[in-house]
Amino acid sequence: MSRVARLAGRLEDPLLVLSSANVRYLTGLDSSNAALLVEPGRTTLYTDFRYAEAAKAVAGVEVVVTPRDTLGYLAERLAGRRVAFEAAHTSYASYRRLVARGVELLPANGVVEELRAVKEGDEVAAIRRAAAISDTLFESLTSERFTGRTERDLAWWVEQRLRALGAERVAFDVLVVSGEHAARPHGAPRDVPIPAGTLVIVDAGAVVDGYRSDCTRTFATGDLPQALADAYELCRRAQLDALAAIEPGVALRAADAASRQAIEAAGLGEQYGHGAGHGVGLEIHEAPFLRAEAPEELKLQAGHVLTVEPGVYLPGVGGVRVEDLLLVTSSGHERLTTFTKDLLTVA
Ligand code: ZN
Ligand code: ZN
Repeated sequence: MSRVARLAGRLEDPLLVLSSANVRYLTGLDSSNAALLVEPGRTTLYTDFRYAEAAKAVAGVEVVVTPRDTLGYLAERLAGRRVAFEAAHTSYASYRRLVARGVELLPANGVVEELRAVKEGDEVAAIRRAAAISDTLFESLTSERFTGRTERDLAWWVEQRLRALGAERVAFDVLVVSGEHAARPHGAPRDVPIPAGTLVIVDAGAVVDGYRSDCTRTFATGDLPQALADAYELCRRAQLDALAAIEPGVALRAADAASRQAIEAAGLGEQYGHGAGHGVGLEIHEAPFLRAEAPEELKLQAGHVLTVEPGVYLPGVGGVRVEDLLLVTSSGHERLTTFTKDLLTVA
């Protein structure tokens, strides 16, 4: 059954899809201005002349080429009708324009995302290739000089390397943070030389056929102070604990909790403020999300592709994060990023 047909089977009202990632997932059309109206037995793809040719190649949809203001056209066309809309992906301005023309809008949440979370064979194949690029990247990174080079310079090297290895583009801005700056989970690379004798977090991913990879490794630039050496071991322990919990049927919040036990026992739970992981696909952060607040009934399923990435952050000292990309299988999981998690010392 096609993705659109599966979606239609879950809908009570026609659904207006405005998110470009969801339009791409459902039709294959990669466009910055397209909308899809999914109704029982009928799917209409609206886009402007720039994407008309590509849209006409999509099987199983009726194509309407609109003026550049596709939303304005839709507002006229849907006037007086009742449709569900993607509340999380529709701006307030767009919402107002539709309502002003008399469209009755019903909020829908995560319907397409729920389908997207469970990957099909061709999607897994693309993610696998993106993950293989990550593995090769980290392998080649170990022979690069870190010490004395700025975080930004190393991040640029990583970006070029990902492209040279076959990535269409980077999956997200490459992160390289060192020393005490690494204690901030989402700091940006600085124009500051990487010091010797500290930890450096490198978080990067590739895009292949629109699908992403995401992997983090942390490297040592020479002998480490004991606190950082211990932090590395603690993070690796926490990551292995979390991996051991990844299998179908496990509650998302339970998988999150498994990544926290060791870190909390060491008194560092407060600094580990982010979720244990997230789904990866056409977007870098998508369902499922491993976090403490995940509703109890949300569980891991075979076909989920997600990260597991606990971090140990010592304010004013340094930080470490270890992140793998996994595929949940019917019996457990398969690790898609396989580069070693032993602590490696770089120059
Ligand atoms: Zn990452
Ligand atoms: Zn991640």
